[in-house]
Amino acid sequence: MLDPFNRDINYLRISVTDRCDFRCVYCMSENMTFLPKANLLTLEELYRLASLFIECGIRKIRLTGGEPLVRKNLIWLIEKLSQKIGKSNLEEITMTTNGSQLAGFATDLANNKIKRINISIDTLDGELFKKITRWGDLSKVLDGVKAAQDAGIRIKINTVALKGINDHEIPSIIRWAHSNGMDITLIETMPMGDIDGDRTENYLPLMDYVKVLEKEFTLTGSDYHTGGPSRYYTANETGGKIGLITPLSHNFCADCNRVRVTCTGKMYMCLGQDDAVDFNKLMRDNASDDSIIQLIHRSISLKPKSHDFKIDKYNNTPAVARHMSVTGG
Ligand code: SAM
Ligand code: SF4
Repeated sequence: MLDPFNRDINYLRISVTDRCDFRCVYCMSENMTFLPKANLLTLEELYRLASLFIECGIRKIRLTGGEPLVRKNLIWLIEKLSQKIGKSNLEEITMTTNGSQLAGFATDLANNKIKRINISIDTLDGELFKKITRWGDLSKVLDGVKAAQDAGIRIKINTVALKGINDHEIPSIIRWAHSNGMDITLIETMPMGDIDGDRTENYLPLMDYVKVLEKEFTLTGSDYHTGGPSRYYTANETGGKIGLITPLSHNFCADCNRVRVTCTGKMYMCLGQDDAVDFNKLMRDNASDDSIIQLIHRSISLKPKSHDFKIDKYNNTPAVARHMSVTGG
């Protein structure tokens, strides 16, 4: 599917739930109001919608959330979608998870053709982990990392870079990831949804932080590309890759190949814009495949050129009202 800026849209992210068993300080407030369960598409409806997207040309699906592994029976959806790999446009299913439930699900994921996942870990200090996630337990996440590796799943670590919170620890997180055979991506905080604090205080511009990393590692720019917004470097000392997601200090919208569907069936053409197309009514009315496919094509034709993110010290309102947990990362 080509959008108006000639970008081939072949990557769909599905946020299967807006709920989560963590409350990361940069992502959610402590007392979140979640969507009424009745508004959520059923797993059957999500499967049907995803199948129609695949028919239109989607080759890669990432399941995200909220925390995808807290959605009941998610493995059913993964199993159904995985049966399409190699028999349709679909080539790969991946997941972004906080890892809290992974120890119990790693084998199921591997048995259903999930070959790589992203796990979000912002610190290796158990106390700080509790402070950042509010409700998380680092040891459970590390058990999940081990279980996924034992099941043969490749892991990339996602770390949100937070000035004054975990920036001192980032080089050692990189060394830990690389010494355990995992690449890592550092992410700038994005102004999405109200949180209890002020994000501008902890915003760390990663394009500047590269200079700090260069004191620790010999970095070689890499042309490695996952079709994502990361710019990659290889650390010569470890041989591992470091990706930087820098939507604020440097945007990569020109290469964007993705759209996002929420658990209620809303499609966001851009993570950093509020425009959305709602598939919920069509799904609930059991509309024909043709009318849903028409709406998919119409939505792609509305994909904007770039996002509207900016971190603004003087105007502390989020660029988009919804939390990252609604559309997934
Ligand atoms: N719960 C899962 C997890 O944490 O991996 C999947 C969903 S989470 C929204 C996806 C990614 O977005 C995580 O790596 C998380 O750290 C990141 N994230 C959440 N809120 C963010 C924000 N405001 N700015 C930047 N990254 C954010
Ligand atoms: Fe949950 Fe992921 Fe958001 Fe943390 S970043 S609160 S784990 S959805």
